[in-house]
Amino acid sequence: MQYIDPSLPCADKLAFDSRKEAAATAVVAFHRYGTKMYPYVCRYCGLWHLSSRSNNNGDDYA
Ligand SMILES: [Zn+2]
Repeated sequence: MQYIDPSLPCADKLAFDSRKEAAATAVVAFHRYGTKMYPYVCRYCGLWHLSSRSNNNGDDYA
């Protein structure tokens, strides 16, 4: 987990140093909630987040 500047649109998202770290959390989320999550690099903070959609470029903030 990384600190994110609160002014960024992704400030309320989980953030990870690496795809590996994000992917590991995605596995946990899948087992816990049954929700498939996909790691992606954020264009705002440059860290990794998880999205419930597979075909996005980090634009799912709306
Ligand atoms: Zn971000």
